[in-house]
Amino acid sequence: MAGAGGSWGRRIASFPYLPAVIMLAVVVLAGILADTQKQKIAEENLRSQVTEQLSVVRSRIEGKINGNVQLVLGLVAVLETEPDMQQARFEALATRIFHNDSQIRHIAAARDFVINLIYPLKGNEKVMGLDYRNQMSQWDGVARVRDTGKIVIAGPLDLVQGGKGLIVRYPVETRSDAGKDRFWGIVSSVIDLEWLYRDTRLRDSEFPLRIAIANNTPEGLYGIPFFGEGDVFRSKPVEMAVNLGQEKWRIAAIPDQGWEQPYPDRWLSRLLTVAIGALVLLPMIRAGRLTAERQRNIADLERRKEELRVLSQRLEIAVSSSRIGIWECDVATGLMHWDERMRELYGLPMDKETCTYEDWASRLHPEDVEEAMGRFNKSMFSGATYENRFRVLLRGGEEIRHVRAIGRAYHSTTGELKVVGVNWNVSEDVRLQEELREAKQRAERQNAELEQARLLMEYNSLHDALTKLPNRRYLDQVMAGKGEGGGALTVLHIDLDRFKEINDTLGHAAGDEILKNTARMLRANLRPEDFVARIGGDEFVIVSEAPETGQYYQRLAGRIIEALAQPILFEGHECRAGASIGIATRANPGERNDELLINADIALYEAKRRGRNRCEFFTDTLRSSVIHTKQTADEILRGLEGNEFIAWYQPQFDAHTLEISGVEALVRWDHPTRGILPPAAFLKIAENLNTVGALDQIVLEQALLHFHQWAARDLGIPKISVNISAQRLHNPDLYERVASLGVRPGTVCFELLESISFDEHDEALIGNIHRLKELGIDFEIDDFGTGHASIISLLKLTPRRLKIDRQLIGPILTSSTERQLVESIIDIGKACDIEIVAEGVETMAHAAMLRDLGCNHLQGYAFARPMSSQDFLDYARKREWFDAFARATGERPRQSA
Ligand code: C2E
Ligand code: CA
Ligand code: CA
Repeated sequence: MAGAGGSWGRRIASFPYLPAVIMLAVVVLAGILADTQKQKIAEENLRSQVTEQLSVVRSRIEGKINGNVQLVLGLVAVLETEPDMQQARFEALATRIFHNDSQIRHIAAARDFVINLIYPLKGNEKVMGLDYRNQMSQWDGVARVRDTGKIVIAGPLDLVQGGKGLIVRYPVETRSDAGKDRFWGIVSSVIDLEWLYRDTRLRDSEFPLRIAIANNTPEGLYGIPFFGEGDVFRSKPVEMAVNLGQEKWRIAAIPDQGWEQPYPDRWLSRLLTVAIGALVLLPMIRAGRLTAERQRNIADLERRKEELRVLSQRLEIAVSSSRIGIWECDVATGLMHWDERMRELYGLPMDKETCTYEDWASRLHPEDVEEAMGRFNKSMFSGATYENRFRVLLRGGEEIRHVRAIGRAYHSTTGELKVVGVNWNVSEDVRLQEELREAKQRAERQNAELEQARLLMEYNSLHDALTKLPNRRYLDQVMAGKGEGGGALTVLHIDLDRFKEINDTLGHAAGDEILKNTARMLRANLRPEDFVARIGGDEFVIVSEAPETGQYYQRLAGRIIEALAQPILFEGHECRAGASIGIATRANPGERNDELLINADIALYEAKRRGRNRCEFFTDTLRSSVIHTKQTADEILRGLEGNEFIAWYQPQFDAHTLEISGVEALVRWDHPTRGILPPAAFLKIAENLNTVGALDQIVLEQALLHFHQWAARDLGIPKISVNISAQRLHNPDLYERVASLGVRPGTVCFELLESISFDEHDEALIGNIHRLKELGIDFEIDDFGTGHASIISLLKLTPRRLKIDRQLIGPILTSSTERQLVESIIDIGKACDIEIVAEGVETMAHAAMLRDLGCNHLQGYAFARPMSSQDFLDYARKREWFDAFARATGERPRQSA
């Protein structure tokens, strides 16, 4: 029960309008009940009313029919007494009957079942003489009358004359003399039903009824009513029996309007019900509403309570885990309420009962006291939010704690001014901040240093460390950006003429001084907006955008050459670098910057070629020579593939015996269209193409081949010389390639140009030379006396021979200077046990003098020009030079054995 009550209570709680709804249902139900009850009572009233009215109708019908029966009974009584009554008498009696209020249409009498009397006769003549015994349809009824001796009413029947009628048959018995009744026959009268209806006012009844009458059949069914409509019997009618003796009818009636007639004042009564219902319901709805509201309020309250609980729980966790101390200060008394954590923060004993403003103030760091108190006081009186940060001294000043405080002044419910707030330890934050700040400063410092380093690196990457001038990279960047619109641009390419010499002879320090001086001089002669870079060892480039004439740049170049021709003193030595300059100016806007650089380089090359210490402009002629060079270069490459390069040979002679002491192999280009070309036509270009090494190899291979052929023909050529380029000498594969040729020791000599730089420290080069020497290859210094190489370093190579340059040989007949020079070279050779070769021996007079001076070998046009291998074979066989020598000098060379 309690559970049910509880659940009910909950249901109401969840639906506060439930009582109102239930009450509404009750009211509606009661209203409907009352309504149907009233309806029922009204219907019952109606029914008893209908019953009353119908009884009137029924008794009227019964009365009328009985009246008619009675009337005829009188006639029957007469007939019993006058069994032999004639038609006339019968008519007279019947007429009397007919005068009465009756609904009889006709009467007939049948003695012994044969109709012999009839009224009215008129219209019924045919019936006269009708024997009932022959009438199957009527005989039953007639027989029953005779058998029972009672009046029998039958019908309604369809009448022969039309319409419907009720036949009343009467038995007629005559009283015999013996007192015994004798059956005479029957009388039958026909009551016209229409007339009966009319006279009982069935059709236009004063009652508001719908009436129906039907035979009461033995089966209890009424059959189809002969009066009124069938539905009356099916509409819960008031029913009664109409008793006609043998025959029974049922009469039924319903009200005209049917049974469901609204009872009077129905709407008023309903309205009343509604009003009463409303009177009951309205307060209940209101109560429901109040309940609902109350429930909402309660739920709200519960929710808030829960929220508050959660919040305070959270706060509790937050406060305890954050180690925040909470305090409250009564401004008037200066008393403070501190929680445990506050006490911890300030190192106050837990059991101290009250804390005061003094407790706080006394623990502040002396430097912070003033400001902290100031802030506190200010917010206390202004009511503004209190925010503070200060240091607290603990353990007698041993420990410093950073504390942050916030708070707010408020008036308590009782009106006192209070400040409430929190304190927390921010020492860690402060320390972190401090660290962060330091880290940031460190990072900034490092960044600055890095930036500095980056700038420096960038500067270094774009500048030459020695002269502080921009370098090649910088130049490339500048050129990439300059003169995009094809504007004026002039490039001067400067190369120092004697830098290498100074470097080699006086050392790198001197070289450095020269370079620094050059940089100074260049800057001094340029406008500030001109760009100057050192792009290689002793090469400088000036880029000027000044739209000046060629003369201007000519003068500028002149000034620079002049300035660089001035000697500088280095450790007591006067050094003169001297400079050559190539100039290229943009001639048309289509010319690219890099083209200008190349052109200036070409012009520089030209300046050097023309004797140095001068400047040259890049010209169309130069351009075409460049084009020619390019074509030649292409052809050289093709020529290499087509084996167009061949070796020619120039013999060398023993100065005393004039026997062939050796042969120099010289490269020739057997050009398909231009014929045999000398090295001057292509060697320089081949050098730039890096193919001289290949040429050297070709010449060496051919020379060896031919050398073997000559040997096979017993020409008695002791050795063969080949020229070797600097390129080839530096080639690390050189040793292997030469070794693979299987050279017989002492038969091959490599001629090195004196001008090849023999750096004592060039391990690869020195190594190559030594290893080749081990193969039995001799070395000869070519063009000796012009290359200005240090003789000391040359001699360190321990060459087998020195070949004096033809420039020195040519003038010996006429110039004593050259002759003396040749003599001293020969002396050096003798001192060092090095053979001396003279080249460019153009006359036999030269040959004789050189022999006399002590030269060992002679080579030159006086004896033979370079020639092909075949020509050389002929030449060597013919030995015609002996006679030539004899003719020219008048002396016979001493023949060898
Ligand atoms: P070089 O080594 O001094 O060769 C001697 C040059 O002097 C040859 O010129 C030769 O024809 C020329 N000559 C000989 N006798 C006389 C003379 O009496 N009077 C004059 N005026 N000249 C004479 P060539 O054959 O034209 O060679 C020129 C240079 O080309 C050579 O000078 C050499 O440095 C270089 N060369 C020649 N063939 C080769 C080679 O196969 N390899 C390398 N690397 N250089 C070679
Ligand atoms: Ca040579
Ligand atoms: Ca030479």
